[in-house]
Amino acid sequence: MHRRQLHRMLQLGEDMAVDWRQATTIEELYEAIRDCRRCPLGETRTNLVLGTGDEDADIMFVGEAPGFQEDRQGIPFVGPAGQFLDQLLASIGLRRSQVYIANTLKCRPPDNRDPQPDELKMCTPYLFKQIEIIAPRIICTLGNHATKTLLKTGTGITQLHGKLLHRDGLAYVPLFHPAAALHKPPLKSVLIEDFQRLKEHLEAERTRWERETVSGAASRAEPAEPADVSEPEQMGFF
Ligand code: SF4
Repeated sequence: MHRRQLHRMLQLGEDMAVDWRQATTIEELYEAIRDCRRCPLGETRTNLVLGTGDEDADIMFVGEAPGFQEDRQGIPFVGPAGQFLDQLLASIGLRRSQVYIANTLKCRPPDNRDPQPDELKMCTPYLFKQIEIIAPRIICTLGNHATKTLLKTGTGITQLHGKLLHRDGLAYVPLFHPAAALHKPPLKSVLIEDFQRLKEHLEAERTRWERETVSGAASRAEPAEPADVSEPEQMGFF
């Protein structure tokens, strides 16, 4: 094929690509951002890890960033932390396929280092688009990174875990990251208890939503503006 023809075809392909802001499904969003290079992590990843699970889920979990296995497989929470998350879900009668699981960053930071403020600034709009599409009743932030980024708070996970919080029209339940519990076993029982509370919070949210449906005021989750992540903060699992 003539080089000029090929160039024109590539141009047309770009023209036809869906703007991620216009995506109405997770598949459309993935197709629109799969080659993203908005931050340097786009150069070092193996796979962009968007999320997994039910696009109509009532509960959405948001972790920090893909790790080694996630980067290889393109699926979030596939290592030991993911297996523990599966056990926690089973403890309240849920399977992974009944919830939605994502991260604040879609690409793996080298050597699993902490996400940088510029990376979060570039990537969190995608997360808010995911939240808009899925419209969960409750968003569980896993660990300090996700909690501080989404709730726009300096308060750590140690104080917030297990509580039902409302911000900008969204309902959140911060939880310790399952990986933290694997490194610090006493946190396992805390997470198990918090999942029981999550079950109660979900019932409360469903009741509230049904009540507001009757009164005409119901709305499922709507995304807030991305958090201001310009200030580097001490973040971590704890
Ligand atoms: S981390 Fe997010 S912003 Fe950076 S390249 Fe990956 S998808 Fe794009």
